[in-house]
Amino acid sequence: MTQATFADLTTLSPELVQAVNALGFNQPTPVQFAAIGTILQGRDVLVSAQTGSGKTAAFALPVLQMALAGRAAQQRMAINTAQRAPNRRVFGLVLVPTRELAAQVGGVFREMASHIAEHQDAADVGDANDTRPLKIATLFGGVSINPQMMALRGGADIVVATPGRLLDLVASNAVSLSTTAVLVLDEADRLLDLGFADELKSVLDLLPVRRQNLFFSATLPDAVQSLAAQLLHEPSVITIEASEQTTPDIRQRAIAVDPVQRTQLLRHLIQTEGHKRVLVFVATKFAAHTVAEKLRKAKIAAAPFHADLAQGTRTQVLADLKSGKWDVVVTTDLASRGIDVTALNLVVNYDLPRSADDYTHRIGRTARAGASGLAINFVSADTDAHLRLIENRHGLSLVREQIAGFEPTQLMPNPHHNEAFQAAGLDPMGGIKGKRPSKKDKLRAQVGADGQLVSPD
Ligand code: AMP
Repeated sequence: MTQATFADLTTLSPELVQAVNALGFNQPTPVQFAAIGTILQGRDVLVSAQTGSGKTAAFALPVLQMALAGRAAQQRMAINTAQRAPNRRVFGLVLVPTRELAAQVGGVFREMASHIAEHQDAADVGDANDTRPLKIATLFGGVSINPQMMALRGGADIVVATPGRLLDLVASNAVSLSTTAVLVLDEADRLLDLGFADELKSVLDLLPVRRQNLFFSATLPDAVQSLAAQLLHEPSVITIEASEQTTPDIRQRAIAVDPVQRTQLLRHLIQTEGHKRVLVFVATKFAAHTVAEKLRKAKIAAAPFHADLAQGTRTQVLADLKSGKWDVVVTTDLASRGIDVTALNLVVNYDLPRSADDYTHRIGRTARAGASGLAINFVSADTDAHLRLIENRHGLSLVREQIAGFEPTQLMPNPHHNEAFQAAGLDPMGGIKGKRPSKKDKLRAQVGADGQLVSPD
């Protein structure tokens, strides 16, 4: 992390420095350091930075500052022209891919805005200045639309929304985007992955042509780059390399285990290694339920989390993981992005993610904001090659560990992993040195250099 403080970002106003310090942040993370000043100059940006890098504050701080300035300008205009501003206006629009991320990002804006308000109250401001806190509206589906309509009465300075619900609210005239000055796409890659391209286009059509665009994305696949090329005007491209991230400190392990033994092994690891605040990724909603249920039977406080749960339940599960009511949440990829549970100390890939990008997002749930974290991958003979692809993409080479009592019955196909094990002074198949060779040991001795079984003679 850079040594600069927020006060060194000279274009950031004292109110905002105060607000961010009140959150306990003193030094900007690399993405904040690189993006805040550029955004405050009014430029479009295309920022690629990994999850957990402090991206939210990198756009929230300048957008809040510009919203305050925008309000002052609007007020002067209203005074000059003796007109009241239309009451469905939105200054800044932040589009996010999931409900959880909307709630989380909205929360960051709201908290910062409340600290700005404290500062404004304390300052000696003239009567003409509007000292009301900036108004933040968070809009997402899966919950009743009425409270969101009410919240939009009188407009909002900032709207944080998922695209579908936003369009519903525009259609029912609860909000107008015709004067929106700043658009933020948060997790742009995920927005497109989740099939929001059409909704996104509809939202873009509602915005004024002249506006500032801020694109944030963990990865920059072709779809994001071509959208950026269409929408961004001479953007400043900011790429925060992995080495500069605030969260490089994730220890990654791979444990070889037969699929049927995974729940038992998970339980064993949680109990013997004392893990708390664990996120376990599984492939299906059904598995989220069954694995959580089995852990509960073993007296581990575990809950499932996936898209079919009611929104209220989803919010509660995450709050309970944060507060420590649950030690383990078993989830589908729904929780792989954006969710920030401070001090989440272990991510388990019970089922491996489909892509290398998903892997980054999943393990990025641990080791947030400079903390260290641990990611464990369960791997079997059938999934070893898939994990190897993910490792290749990330330049990793994980030793396949074995845990006593959970040794897989099928050989791992990649001889390299056995070599890596031996180089680490360990027996590749977990046997104890000096022990009489077991049937498995004998079988292993028959594995040729290419990993194929060879004849004993
Ligand atoms: P984000 O990438 O926006 O989800 O942020 C990841 C985590 O970093 C969150 O827990 C933030 O509260 C925290 N964070 C953001 N900026 C800073 C900072 N400048 N100093 C310390 N923590 C930060």
